[in-house]
Amino acid sequence: MEYIQLVLENKKLCGDGSFTKDCHRWFIENTGTVQALLTTSCTHALEMAAILAEIKSGDEVIMPSYTFVSTANAFVLRGAKIVFVDIRPDTMNIDENLIEAAITTKTKAIVPMHYAGVSCEMDTILDIANKYNLVVIEDAAQGIGSSYKGRSLGSIGDMGCYSFHETKNVSCGEGGALLIQDESLVERAEIIREKGTNRSKFWRGQIDKYTWVDIGSSYLPSEFNAAYLYMQLQNIEKINKDRLKTWNHYNESLKPLAQKGFIESPVIPQECQHNAHMFYIKVKDVEERSSLIDYLKQHEIISVFHYIPLHSSPAGQRFGFFFGADKWTTKESERLLRLPIYYGMKEENVAYIIAKLTGYYENAKKHTTPPPHSGQNIQYCKAV
Ligand SMILES: *Cc1c(COP(=O)(O)O)cnc(C)c1O
Repeated sequence: MEYIQLVLENKKLCGDGSFTKDCHRWFIENTGTVQALLTTSCTHALEMAAILAEIKSGDEVIMPSYTFVSTANAFVLRGAKIVFVDIRPDTMNIDENLIEAAITTKTKAIVPMHYAGVSCEMDTILDIANKYNLVVIEDAAQGIGSSYKGRSLGSIGDMGCYSFHETKNVSCGEGGALLIQDESLVERAEIIREKGTNRSKFWRGQIDKYTWVDIGSSYLPSEFNAAYLYMQLQNIEKINKDRLKTWNHYNESLKPLAQKGFIESPVIPQECQHNAHMFYIKVKDVEERSSLIDYLKQHEIISVFHYIPLHSSPAGQRFGFFFGADKWTTKESERLLRLPIYYGMKEENVAYIIAKLTGYYENAKKHTTPPPHSGQNIQYCKAV
């Protein structure tokens, strides 16, 4: 409220005011990025990245199929063909070892998406990109405050995109940022973000009138969003620490269920520091997941699954194709279930959810002892 009040007093509500500059400085100081620009969403940051990477009709862009639509849409808007590569079952991130085989003479970019704020294997991805002269654009929508080998997600590739949508750790309702590591792209990025004009230079007094110089759109948020976001950024440690507490509570308390083989817990590779953006479990299969969602709902717990793999969606089939075998993408996406996690979540609520989950599986065990003559088709948890 204090910052919003200041915006009102400053009477500058449009973008690129003092709070936007504060946010830009925050990204540079806290992520090690060369430059950062606040945007109206991560979707728009990705669109800017696609323009800056000079993606054009016929180009191919490699990414996982297990991601949000915007990861692909941004490149489809420029005419690219999307090449979906399988994920790793442990982190749900793109399998870095499958990327090289998918590269053709048309490949222009690799877009790793850091699922749940847990990093992709970036060193391998950067090596491949260097070898074939490809641009790396990180979809770090979920990754603010996370790192890989000590480097902030979003600042590792040529460009990185954050989301500040309400569902993310740090938010301003709707918002995002584009992080740029290549100094030579910064001037064009400012132009694209300002409707294709050189207005940013004009504001800085570097030119005496501004004009239309390139393609672009309106990708800058208002000062209200920037002010709200800046307060959130200044409190990121508090926010992520609180979420990590909930995450660890789930992880520790669900160990017995994991050890008994009922569920799988998330895997965090050693090189990765994560921000507890999400806590998910993996269950036996899609049927068990539906049954578990219903059961939890009966106990007033909202649990949700996540992406329908893009390659199986109508637009995904039109604008892309799956390269190689879909060994994990479909299978693992059908088993994944997200549990409630948010800033300020009460310990007793986490404990309640853990108790219900444990109860579900303990009951299931009683009811799934197969009758003497039945086949292998055990109907998990029917009786719950
Ligand atoms: C949230 C999200 C986006 C989109 O972010 P917006 O700011 O809502 O545009 C893109 N990619 C991933 C992986 C996301 O989780």
